[in-house]
Amino acid sequence: MPQVISGTASYEKTYGDENFILDVQLTQGDGSLSYRSEDENVVTVSKDGEVTIVGIGKTNIVVIASETAAYNKAEKYISVSIICKHTDESKREIRNAKQAKCMENGYTGDVYCTICGEKVADGTVIPASGHRWNEGEVITEATADSDGVMKYTCQNCGAERTERIPATGKPTDDTGQGNNSEQGGNTGSSDSDHQTNGGTNGSSSENTAGGSSQTSSGKQQTSSGAAPAAGAVIRNPSTGDTYKVVSPGRTVEYRGSVNQNKKAVNVPDTVVVDGVRYQVASIANNAFKNNKKLTSVVIGKNVTKIGKKAFFGCQKLKKITIKTIKLKTKTVGAKAFTKAGSKNYSKLTVKVPKKCKKTYPKILRKKGLSGRAKIK
Ligand SMILES: [Zn+2]
Ligand SMILES: [Zn+2]
Repeated sequence: MPQVISGTASYEKTYGDENFILDVQLTQGDGSLSYRSEDENVVTVSKDGEVTIVGIGKTNIVVIASETAAYNKAEKYISVSIICKHTDESKREIRNAKQAKCMENGYTGDVYCTICGEKVADGTVIPASGHRWNEGEVITEATADSDGVMKYTCQNCGAERTERIPATGKPTDDTGQGNNSEQGGNTGSSDSDHQTNGGTNGSSSENTAGGSSQTSSGKQQTSSGAAPAAGAVIRNPSTGDTYKVVSPGRTVEYRGSVNQNKKAVNVPDTVVVDGVRYQVASIANNAFKNNKKLTSVVIGKNVTKIGKKAFFGCQKLKKITIKTIKLKTKTVGAKAFTKAGSKNYSKLTVKVPKKCKKTYPKILRKKGLSGRAKIK
């Protein structure tokens, strides 16, 4: 006589799900049931039919009803597939990350799930910082009737470019514009397009780097250019932090750091780049999103706006020090603090200014800060 094993024929489960028990029953026969997994890298099964999820993939569990005096041995195949929804944020890995250089964009890296190996999210481009020219040195002095040469060296990467120093006997050319120091990438050859003259134009009072001047000998030095325009991305070479210029010579937005491994980040009150001091007035959307290294951050006193998902998924974050008193519900972006400190929410402390102890908790929680985080 045949034995009949009934029950669910296939299961689809997600990696991370709890153990489950097969609902098989012997509806005809009197053998005893035993279980075997065809791939123990996917699931294992106990002698009572309890299934443990081990890995991603698809396999069968074979249920066997043993042969008895009255019945033949019978088998039933139950298919089990385990899929990955990449929900475990601790099982993530960044690949293909690249630091930005002066003239070469970097990349924050793609996010992969290490459980299943699939790509979970694309990275973003870290803009090239642009060269940071020094004040320059005179290689060849200009004379009354022959041009001289000025050499500039990038303080980040060592690239060089030269400029013509007009001969002192010639009338000066008043159409010369302050050259943009972010763009000069040529090395070696003299470049008359970059000529400036005597500080009569092109350099605003905000531009102090390599400030132009005319020496008593009549030799002309060149300016390194006007302050970067709105939208330009500038970098603080000593910290690697990048900023977008919002108001030239006045305010910038904090975008992130070329160094993704920093544990403690200070979004400063002000920053000086190429001799120009800017107020740091905002933090960009996604500035620290999914930063797995960050444990503490200080938000400077001039910050009036925090972008969407700025600290989203900063799972190791333990300390946020807010110095600014200027945040409002509508100036803090959606999900700015969602999943911040998710490794252990109760270890996250947010320090807020005294003045804001009543208003900030509401704002921060509305923007995703865990209810378990302490606000002091
Ligand atoms: Zn996955
Ligand atoms: Zn450079």
